[in-house]
Amino acid sequence: MFEDITVDVSPMHEGERIRSANMFVELAGPKSIGAELVQVEDNVEDGKLEVIGPELQDMQEGDIHPLGIMIKIQGEKLERELEGVIERRTHELCNYVKGFMHLNQRDQIWCRVSKEAMEAGFKLKDLAKALSILFKEEYSIIEAISITIMTGEDQVKEFVEKTRVTYEQRDARARELSDEDVDVFYGCVMCQSFAPTHVCVVTPDRTALCGAINWFDCRAAAKMDPEGPIFEIVKGEVLDEVKGEYQNINEMVAERSQGTFDTVYLHSVFGYPHTSCGCFEAVAFYVPELDGIGIVDRDFRGETPLGIPFSSMAGQCSGGKQVEGFSGLSMEYMRSPKFLQADGGYERVIWLPKEIKESLAEYIPDELKDKISTEEDGGSIKEILKFLQEHEHPIMERMKQSLEEVEETPVEEEEAMEYSEMDMEAVSMAPVAYAPELTVPTAGGVKIIFKNAKVYAEKVIIKRK
Ligand code: SF4
Ligand SMILES: [Zn+2]
Repeated sequence: MFEDITVDVSPMHEGERIRSANMFVELAGPKSIGAELVQVEDNVEDGKLEVIGPELQDMQEGDIHPLGIMIKIQGEKLERELEGVIERRTHELCNYVKGFMHLNQRDQIWCRVSKEAMEAGFKLKDLAKALSILFKEEYSIIEAISITIMTGEDQVKEFVEKTRVTYEQRDARARELSDEDVDVFYGCVMCQSFAPTHVCVVTPDRTALCGAINWFDCRAAAKMDPEGPIFEIVKGEVLDEVKGEYQNINEMVAERSQGTFDTVYLHSVFGYPHTSCGCFEAVAFYVPELDGIGIVDRDFRGETPLGIPFSSMAGQCSGGKQVEGFSGLSMEYMRSPKFLQADGGYERVIWLPKEIKESLAEYIPDELKDKISTEEDGGSIKEILKFLQEHEHPIMERMKQSLEEVEETPVEEEEAMEYSEMDMEAVSMAPVAYAPELTVPTAGGVKIIFKNAKVYAEKVIIKRK
């Protein structure tokens, strides 16, 4: 079937990572542009495979090129509602090709071709061929498929713009529905191939964290293949409406995570947040010093207020883990009225990259727009605190209240800790304190620095000798 493709094609290559030392070229990704799109159409010319723009053999080692993958499918039973879910499989199926690595989804894709594959004579046309066979194998309802791969700058740019219009149309549809309007939610375990304990719960208000699968997509997928990776969860008993805790979701998560987790809150980063695989579009993270929540997206290159960039944070909370204080999420979920509602929603958000703040302008309550800081207002906790004070962010009121509560609690003098000159020592902390760089000044000038560390403790006692 794959005879005329010069590299091996099999699910066993799915976990292959191509590091820069072993890379021939990079396609799309953070240093370029790219997107993938599946569209159901009439009159699809079955088997038509095209590469428009430079082929791999026309590229130089170390180059970075744009990449567009346009997949047209046709079939009597194919509905347009299935486009999103079928498109999401592109990630997995591309990774069956030895020497080709595909990350992320939609206009976030990031691919690499290995030197070894190049030596074997691999071409992008082979990728198109492999995908055309694999998609038909996976979905018997696809009767005709044609694939166009684009690598030219102008053409990919135009293609990316077109894909964004389609993504927005898909997302907008789900925005009109809310959790109360439906009797079923959906689960997705597509990412268990690399995050074995991860289970996505998709509701009208909570588009999956990869941003590529919403409630309508799941409905269509579960109808087409009830035994497949996307399945129905009858909503059933609501245990906590604000946190988004449901009896049936807890049970399903326990079963599908092989007993690793048995509780999930859909709308909170505290307690039992939703697990994170690794494809999240953004991460919400608790900033204990300010008792607020920051959000960082994949495209943000700088450091977050925790002193680490997106990539390090993603490393800590991905792989199917449930890490209190962190939650992977989609951009679309940030447009939902239920966005982290148990934590205070946007009233609790203290920091966002400027770009996403602008893109969410319509969804951030007017009275909060000027109060949420961005990288331009400061990177350190101290700078952010100053900004929040000056702009009267509601978190200041919360911090004051926590301060009063703590002051009312008697503390043994010996156990009291001089923390810093800022008035943030009494801020209430979530059970998990995340301390990327916590400096404790002492008389002797000893400095303890925790980098990228998580400290779990019921109580910390520091005594002066
Ligand atoms: S991130 Fe979630 S919804 Fe998206 S493909 Fe993975 S498991 Fe499915
Ligand atoms: Zn995932």
